[in-house]
Amino acid sequence: MREIKTKDEFREIKESGAGYLLITDTANGNRIHKLSCSHVKEDYFEEKVLKEKCKNGNYYMIDDIEGAMERYNADLCMKCMK
Ligand SMILES: [Zn+2]
Repeated sequence: MREIKTKDEFREIKESGAGYLLITDTANGNRIHKLSCSHVKEDYFEEKVLKEKCKNGNYYMIDDIEGAMERYNADLCMKCMK
């Protein structure tokens, strides 16, 4: 599990297409997405991580989906993981 902190990292991961993303959110709950999901966008990343300084949540690369669900009480994205 690795936190994504810069736009370059975000781009690199998104382009690689490998793995899953955990997006934590204090308001809407924690969700796990595929990198191809329409909710996984650079604009959103920029807003949440860079502009708001992770005040409402963070972005993480994960490879253990079940572990992340358990540890972070995360749900699978209804759009890309169903
Ligand atoms: Zn999704």
